[in-house]
Amino acid sequence: MSVSYRIATIAGDGIGPEVAGATVQVLQALLGSDVLRFDWLDGGAGHYDKTGEVLPQSTLDACRASHAILHGAAGLPGVTYDDGTEVGNDLHLKLRFGLDLYANVRPIRLLPGVESPLRHHQPGTIDYVIVRENTEGLYASRGAGVVLRDEMASDSLVITRKGTERVARFALELSRRRQGAPKDGKRRLTVCDKANILRSYAFFRRVCDEVGAEFNDVELDYAYVDAMTVHLVKRPDFYDVIVAENLFGDIISDLGAATVGGMGVSPSAELGDRHGLFQGAHGSAPDIAGQDAANPIATLLSGAMMLEWLAVEHADDRLSDAAGRLRQAVDGVLSDGRYRPREFGGDTGCSAFTEQVLRQLEG
Ligand code: ATP
Ligand code: MG
Repeated sequence: MSVSYRIATIAGDGIGPEVAGATVQVLQALLGSDVLRFDWLDGGAGHYDKTGEVLPQSTLDACRASHAILHGAAGLPGVTYDDGTEVGNDLHLKLRFGLDLYANVRPIRLLPGVESPLRHHQPGTIDYVIVRENTEGLYASRGAGVVLRDEMASDSLVITRKGTERVARFALELSRRRQGAPKDGKRRLTVCDKANILRSYAFFRRVCDEVGAEFNDVELDYAYVDAMTVHLVKRPDFYDVIVAENLFGDIISDLGAATVGGMGVSPSAELGDRHGLFQGAHGSAPDIAGQDAANPIATLLSGAMMLEWLAVEHADDRLSDAAGRLRQAVDGVLSDGRYRPREFGGDTGCSAFTEQVLRQLEG
């Protein structure tokens, strides 16, 4: 087969270039440049600083025309628009909305050789997926909140039927397909909300329920977000797929990442009906940028998610095989025990870790 896939690749800011570079190197080693073609594209806060553009039209067009998007991370402190507001990760947000990437998929899995701060948990026992609604919720208020006479401020929370139905359906279908299962072997969708206090969350739960009724094989479960933070620490092995409104999904996925080693191990995929963007669940971590200190695992595993998504979209087994080899290589380096990323208190930097992943692939 000579099919090739165009991957729109945006390094971005901070540690973005380091972790995206590492991932491209590994993906090329896995499949060769005939199968995957990486187009490096401009964008981000640093690019804005130089050119006055966060997301050039040419980058957006190339993303639209590509098979998938691989992203490092975006955002740099201190880079602001003329009105003084931070540019931040606007590149990422513009892509999210421009391509309607409504489901933010964040697997939380404890890898071999990684110590969880939840000491009684072993690899394999924490293995669930958070599906964060990515286009509305409280974050829909971004830029639209108001401050009244410096005395009061307010934002609004928006939940739509359409937005909730599509993300709930996505999460239920994911539960149907996924391999990892909770300890009791049940397929389960946990709806995480605050339905007891706010009407919008009660509506979110009701719409999830309605869609869930079409899926007899997936058990519906509910948790208020405050209780959810306790459950994810005390009994993470109970969970299969969790669906949450944008803000709550953001918060519980950082919590989940911490339980399996840190921000640097958590991958993410942002998916719409036509496009997919893959990047670590972390931001651009400017505090450690340029020091070869970043953990590349999150982006490497996002690369594996990209291959798996492309494999399904294009019915191409070569890509799912490659994704499996990539996961095994990361697991292999971690299990070896000699190469602990700096994020875990070890001394293996981004490039040294990547080198070991490449070794595993050769061996
Ligand atoms: P965002 O607003 O995009 O969520 P953030 O301000 O929350 O970004 P992150 O970049 O996600 O910040 O990360 C918070 C901290 O976690 C970083 O400052 C860094 O110390 C650490 N961190 C994040 N990603 C990594 C990584 N890949 N490797 C090592 N440490 C990381
Ligand atoms: Mg964050």
